[in-house]
Parts: sequence; structure tokens; C-alpha cells
Amino acid sequence: MIELDLKLYVYALYFLMVVSTTSFALIIRKIESDTISKIPLLYFNGYFIVGAIGWISHGIKDSANIDIDLTIGLLFYLLASGLLVVAVAECGKQNKSRRIIILAIHFCIAAISILIDTDPQRILFLGVYCLSFYSCIAYLTFKWSREKQNFGHTIIFVATVLVAALAPCIFYSGLVLNDYGLAYGFIIIGSSTGYILIGTGLLTVVMIAENKKMQKLALYDPLTGLYNRRGMNLSCNHIVSAAHRSESCISAINMDIDFFKKINDAYGHDGGDYVLKKFAQALLKSVRPNDVCCRLGGEEFVIVLLEAKQEYAVLVAERIRQEIEALELMYEGSTITLTSSFGVATHYKNINIDNLLKDADEALYAAKAGGRNQVCVNAANESPS
Ligand code: GH3
Ligand code: MG
Ligand code: MG
Repeated sequence: MIELDLKLYVYALYFLMVVSTTSFALIIRKIESDTISKIPLLYFNGYFIVGAIGWISHGIKDSANIDIDLTIGLLFYLLASGLLVVAVAECGKQNKSRRIIILAIHFCIAAISILIDTDPQRILFLGVYCLSFYSCIAYLTFKWSREKQNFGHTIIFVATVLVAALAPCIFYSGLVLNDYGLAYGFIIIGSSTGYILIGTGLLTVVMIAENKKMQKLALYDPLTGLYNRRGMNLSCNHIVSAAHRSESCISAINMDIDFFKKINDAYGHDGGDYVLKKFAQALLKSVRPNDVCCRLGGEEFVIVLLEAKQEYAVLVAERIRQEIEALELMYEGSTITLTSSFGVATHYKNINIDNLLKDADEALYAAKAGGRNQVCVNAANESPS
């Protein structure tokens, strides 16, 4: 039977904590993200650096059997927690005076902690601190996680709840069982788990946010905010599957602004861009949430409508045509008016998005050839009924 040397496990935990807090501190220095701005990252960095020094001091104290009390450990803990509160407050956009108050309170708490005489008192003091301050951080991170919809924030919230929830265990083992070794053990477990979860949560926040940003860049048109062609293809896969499942039809409305080159010539490229944005906004107002709106490129757009028969798609196209025709766009003191042409196609079975768009494009070509500012229908695919 192998005997467990518990002391070795404690050193292993200290070693792990020094390595992980140092790694988190180093990684955070490398983060360049607009998800979390520089200042809170600086505080988080400080939190991990102070944490690493605290764990090193724990390791030296225990391994060298130096008989010193918990004053230094407590001071590092309070300082690190103070930096954490400010970091979280910064992320939650708390005002500056509130952050200064939080830091000032921490200095006072740290000063008071030096005056405490015995380790059991220090442990109980830490219990009160964890319960009060980590409950506040948990509240801030909860608000933050609800606002941002990013799982990383939830991990940070869970970490702070865990630390706050350890306070009753500390009180119970100290005040009821009179076992301060156990109470100290709870503090070590709580703070080590807290550091690792907060570090993991922070990196998860950045990773998920960056991933979302990349997806947005890949799937959306930056000028109008509509899908680009890649985004449309991806969304249409869902629509086509839904149409196959429900045996319903899909329509496409292809559209192109008339004589857009003249708008560019008259108002410059920026004027043209302004018109494209307003055109996209008008489209979004006229469609249902499940319809897919896309800028195919230049001044060409398409809407793909699920469960939309040809008559309905023509109605939608005609409504948009009239809205665009009625627009009076104010740009640098001038009023810009415009018209656009529309091609509608509907597929009732064997739906293929590429073919549907080709059919709608043919109808658009007919609308252009027929004099522009009109809706034309490609009647190649008739309704089966
Ligand atoms: P038509 O009625 O036949 O469609 O004529 P048009 O002038 O609208 O079409 P044409 O294809 O001749 O010109 C389209 C212009 O759109 C040419 C191009 O410089 C401009 N364009 C393409 N992309 C953008 C863009 O992102 N911003 C701006 N401002 N102009 C763009
Ligand atoms: Mg055009
Ligand atoms: Mg064009």
C-alpha cells in the first residue's frame, strides 16, 4: 500500500498555482482585443502577478518550515482581490469615483488586517471579507455575463460565487469545529480554484468574442451589415433544409439600383456608400425576421424568402420598389432620389439556391431591359397547384 505524503500534494498545488498564475499574467500581457480594453486587462494582469507572488511566498513559508503567521499571505490575498474587483468594475464600466472608493476600502481593509493578532482571527477576517466582497464581485460579474452573452463571463461569475460560498465553510470549521487547519484548507482550495477559473474565464471571454468577430467579418458585409455571399449561402442551407422538411417553396428577389454609377459620379464614392446603407436599411424594414437579406456586391442585393409563394414575393418586391422610389435621402445639403429594378423567382420543388438566384437574375435582367424601376417575374417554375 502506497502512503500518501499530503505535504507533497500541498507543494504540488502551490507549484501548480505559481505556474498557472504566472502563465495567465504573461498571456494577458499579449492579449490585443477590443473585447476587453487595455485598462481592465492591466488590473487582471496585476491580479495574477500579485497572486503568483502570494503563492510563491506560501510555498517558501511552508517548504522551509519558516514559522511566520498569515499576515503576508492575507495581505497578498487582499491586494489581489482589490485588483480583481477594480478589473471587474472596469469591464462593467463603473464610474471612476466608484473604482477609487473600492481601492481605498481595500487599503483600509489591508491596514486593519495587519493589526490582527492571531492566525485564527485572520482566517475569520478573511471569511468575512470573502462573503462580503466576493458577493459584490459575483453580483457585478452576473450583470456582466447577462449583458455580454459570452460563456467566459459565466465562468468568472461561477468562480466568484464559489469563493463567496466558501465563507460559511470557513466559519463552520473555525467557530463550530474549532478546526482552523480545516478552515485554512478551505481558503487555499477556494482561492486556488478561483484563480484558475477566473483566468480560464477571461481567456474564454476573449476567445469567444474574437471568434464572433471573425465570423462577422467572414459572413457580413461591413458597409451595410447585411450578409455577404458566403453568409447568404450558409443561411440559405438552413432555409433550404427547412423548405425540404416542410415541403414548402422558396422565393428570391434579386435587385439592383438603377444608374448607380450616376449617383457615384454626382455625390462621390462616400455619397454612393451612404445610399447603399440607406437602401439596405429600407430592405431590412420590409422583410420578416427569417428572410435572408444579402448584398451580393456593388449595388446588387438579394432577399431569399422561406415559405413565400410567387404572388407574395412579387408583393414584397413591389412594396420595396415603391419605398425606394419614395426615399428622399439628405446628403451634404442635397436630396438624393433613386429607383431600383427587381427580379423575382420561386422554386416549389427540387430547390437549389444557385438555380433560384440564376432565375431571379434573369428576371432582373428583363426588368432592366424593360426600362428599369419595375418588378419582373421569372415564370419558368410554375406552382404545382
Ligand atoms: P444599371 O442601371 O444598369 O444597373 O446601371 P448602374 O450604373 O447602376 O450599373 P453599373 O454596373 O454600370 O455601375 C455600378 C457602379 O457601382 C460601378 C461601381 O463603381 C459602383 N460600386 C460598386 N461597389 C461600390 C461600393 O461599394 N460603393 C460605391 N460607392 N460604389 C460602388
Ligand atoms: Mg445598377
Ligand atoms: Mg449592377
